[in-house]
Amino acid sequence: MSLLPVSEALERTQRDCRVLETEQVALPDAMRRILAADLPARFTQPAFDASSMDGYAVRAADVADAPAKLKVIGEAPAGHAFEGKVEAGEAVRIFTGAPVPEGADTVIMQEVTVREGDRVMIGQSPPKPRHFVRPRGLDFCEGDILLHQGRRLGPREIGLAAAMNHAELPVRRKPKVAILATGDELVFPGQTPRPDQIIASNSFALAALVTAFGGDPVDLGLARDNRASLIEMGSRALEADIIVTSGGASVGDHDLVIDVFEELGLKVDFWKVAQRPGKPMIFGHLGKSLFLGLPGNPVSSLVCARVYLKPMIDAMLGLPGDADHPEEALIGAPLPANDERQDFLRAALSKDENGQLTATAFGKQDSSMMNILARADCLLIRPPQAPASKPGERARILRFHF
Ligand code: AMP
Ligand code: MG
Repeated sequence: MSLLPVSEALERTQRDCRVLETEQVALPDAMRRILAADLPARFTQPAFDASSMDGYAVRAADVADAPAKLKVIGEAPAGHAFEGKVEAGEAVRIFTGAPVPEGADTVIMQEVTVREGDRVMIGQSPPKPRHFVRPRGLDFCEGDILLHQGRRLGPREIGLAAAMNHAELPVRRKPKVAILATGDELVFPGQTPRPDQIIASNSFALAALVTAFGGDPVDLGLARDNRASLIEMGSRALEADIIVTSGGASVGDHDLVIDVFEELGLKVDFWKVAQRPGKPMIFGHLGKSLFLGLPGNPVSSLVCARVYLKPMIDAMLGLPGDADHPEEALIGAPLPANDERQDFLRAALSKDENGQLTATAFGKQDSSMMNILARADCLLIRPPQAPASKPGERARILRFHF
């Protein structure tokens, strides 16, 4: 099989990503979820003309020529409306959040008043009628659409939805992403590896990436490089929306992922992409699941997940993908001419005083170097056959967003 261009691989991996169904979640579970429908307010906020100060509710006409002395006829704390009417020469002691009583139209803050028994002296005239009164509906009115479908819910959105009197919110189901690591050489962090073993890191990075982009990772653990182990562990993945494997995707004798998953029903769409890192990437369909076989090198697997898995998750959540808001930066250091593979160079981003971004690729780009990956801010994209580039030329970048 020849190497597939990246653009084609992106197109094919996203082609069958359907927007997932809607589910209802309680407000405490709504953080970072994607709203699945436009949300109308079920409440008018405030629902009544409300005092925004502790003080006295009065008729503006009575205090236009302050100082003025008024008779205090009652009290209105928050949650306890004063039921009577304020007539000429009268005032009601009022507190923040309480309804302004009928007849009154203005609140005088208590700092400019002096209370004597059932009388209050108003020291200053208010600058305008309706002073310190929040009119009914100031914030929003019942029926107003305040949050739209596709909005990622954060603390502000959740607070607003609660104020709109929604206890539950319609959100997109999270794409379930099963993650299976493969390799005889791997032991989990915290153990003591033998001299010929290494630490398994991919599943942790991939699960974190899935969570960061709004998916639901399911860690299937570690399969060994033999058919029995791969079949046993792999068959647990079949309920997922996306199955992701790491390792075993190359052409070595112990790279069994394609073979074994074909036995489980995988229909390979493509294998091997004209890219660096991540050439031996596999994509296909396995029952109702999409299958992404990532290379084992930690940088390759995470870069491929950023480049391919993120847009797949976005599409299932009904969100725009990278292609909908491409970003560019100036190249910070000279780059040699490129060969037939598209490079995703790990690069540091800087911003000058005008907001201009510059992406400087690290000198070392080996696909095993997690340390460099962790220091990078973005991937600098070098198209196939790009000529040598000088600093100041433009290039597309892909931010990690994590
Ligand atoms: P493979 O694609 O299986 O040939 O693996 C390529 C390289 O990545 C090898 O050096 C593996 O040891 C390493 N590798 C594979 N899986 C993982 C993993 N889960 N965590 C860290 N390194 C891995
Ligand atoms: Mg391996």
